Amino acid sequence: MVALREFYADVAAAVAAVGQTCRACGACCDFDAYGHRLYVTTLELALLTAEPPAAPAGPGRCPYQHGAACAARDRRALGCRVFSCSQAAADAEQAIYARFHERLGRLHAEHGIPYLYLDLPAAAAALAGGDSSSRTAGRHTGGRDMPPRTGTLTVVAFGDSITQASHQEAPYRWVTLVQDQLNRRLSDTAAAVLNAGAGGETSREGLRRLQRDVLDVRPDIVLVEFGGNDATPDDGRQVGLEEFGDNLHLISTECRKIHAQVMILTFPPIIDAWHCWGRHDRYAETNGPNAHVERYRQAARRYACDHRLALIDIARLLEEAARKDSPQSIILPDGVHLTQAGNRIVAQAVADAIVARQRPLSDV
Ligand code: SF4
Ligand code: SF4
Repeated sequence: MVALREFYADVAAAVAAVGQTCRACGACCDFDAYGHRLYVTTLELALLTAEPPAAPAGPGRCPYQHGAACAARDRRALGCRVFSCSQAAADAEQAIYARFHERLGRLHAEHGIPYLYLDLPAAAAALAGGDSSSRTAGRHTGGRDMPPRTGTLTVVAFGDSITQASHQEAPYRWVTLVQDQLNRRLSDTAAAVLNAGAGGETSREGLRRLQRDVLDVRPDIVLVEFGGNDATPDDGRQVGLEEFGDNLHLISTECRKIHAQVMILTFPPIIDAWHCWGRHDRYAETNGPNAHVERYRQAARRYACDHRLALIDIARLLEEAARKDSPQSIILPDGVHLTQAGNRIVAQAVADAIVARQRPLSDV
């Protein structure tokens, strides 16, 4: 818990640096009324519930709220510390949350603690309803008795802004949704799904942080999602198709050296007419960036096929959904990032692939 308290001190410094103000009115701690949710990780839940709440946990609000005041102020979670109702610092807060949430995931791995990402009221209610021998996160979820989790599974999602998904609040990002699905579907496994997405990155730039963000975590599965930014019109940063293939190979080879399974994701569709690259000369030959990026998708498909790696072709799934419904339902107005529905499609495909991989092991 010392490491977690040091972590929270760093969060406080980062939040102070962006000039966040909160008058502690407590409105945002009544989650249903405010219209949002608070998720906590295993470690955060352990510290927060080190002292039980005085009031019984009710649905949709924090059990540690007494009147307007927080009765757990020095133990409160990352989300409590970073969120503010002021829109002025919203982007900076999202970036702080993403950065520290990723570090929090590493903290679990470093200390050998299974990572779970739980809805606070549901987790607090489940803990309050269980006996003292069941106060282990993961044994009770959403108030429903579950068998003890006997295995662990660490998944790192390594990619660009599609993986980071900071355009959505944390509970609606596909990486979080995969975590939710694995919590439900792998009842005997404590799964930790860590988001190592970094907005705007090419595969070349991703390689520079492979050791720190992926290999040091010692994951069982690595989801690799790059390709869109490799096609950037910026001459200094663009990555050719050959180098892109080499980078996938380097990432995959290093992951397999630590016995991690690699799953390749394709880059989502781009709506040329909406995207800021839509009229750039660089894409004249292909008549737009989407067809240009398709070459990178094809390279990723080929690489996965040639090296017998799992391919999760989210581009095709998203294209199909956009055709059936509408592009607006899947892609945000910036022409590339995903709506909540788009995030759900990716999460479903990724969770299905992971569960399918796990099944033979659990059947042994
Ligand atoms: S722990 Fe405190 S700050 Fe966080 S939601 Fe509960 S009452 Fe609010
Ligand atoms: S963030 Fe806003 S709503 Fe939440 S306690 Fe502070 S002032 Fe109140």
